[in-house]
Amino acid sequence: MSSIKQMLENNRKWSERIRKESPGYLETLSNAQTPEILWVGCSDSRVGPDQLIGLPMGSVFVHRNVANIFATNDLNCLAVLEYAVDELKVPNIVVCGHYGCGGVHAALEHSGVQPVDLWLDQLRFVYNRHAEELNQLPPTERANRLAELNVESQVHNICRNTIVREAWKRGQEVNVIGVIYDIHDGLLKQLGVEFRSREAWEAHYGESFSV
Ligand SMILES: [Zn+2]
Repeated sequence: MSSIKQMLENNRKWSERIRKESPGYLETLSNAQTPEILWVGCSDSRVGPDQLIGLPMGSVFVHRNVANIFATNDLNCLAVLEYAVDELKVPNIVVCGHYGCGGVHAALEHSGVQPVDLWLDQLRFVYNRHAEELNQLPPTERANRLAELNVESQVHNICRNTIVREAWKRGQEVNVIGVIYDIHDGLLKQLGVEFRSREAWEAHYGESFSV
């Protein structure tokens, strides 16, 4: 059976099962979504949030791209953040990177003018900011550390965005947190970057911004 045929067959079975086991579940979900988490993760097929964190459908609003970058000049990223924060009032934003990330390795190994290379330039900026630390590490550790620093950088990009800052200003709950996923043991690790307010974020980065 082809992958597509398998996909459709699996879907049919899943739909039958869920309607039998949980009557009304899909009808309830179809009325509205109230996700608890905005997930910003990598497109890598091994790191989809649904299975990693075991939350039911309707719990996670998802944005994924190569190397889990929250690009402040990318309309897609901004539209997702705006909708999640302003419309859905999602209280938690999780940026999830992962070890063994192909995007991180590509950014370290080469550059170019293809779309993925240009996208990964944003990762090279992170590398350049931390080159002194990273260049002292052997290749695998260097890539893993860059994956961690990339998560921190994307958390920073989200916190400094007007959408989040305005939400904090009006007292809305928005908790921005960075985690990294280890594809070898399946565990998420916190990276010590978690901000619930503009003050907490500014204290961490030692910066002062006027809103
Ligand atoms: Zn990846």
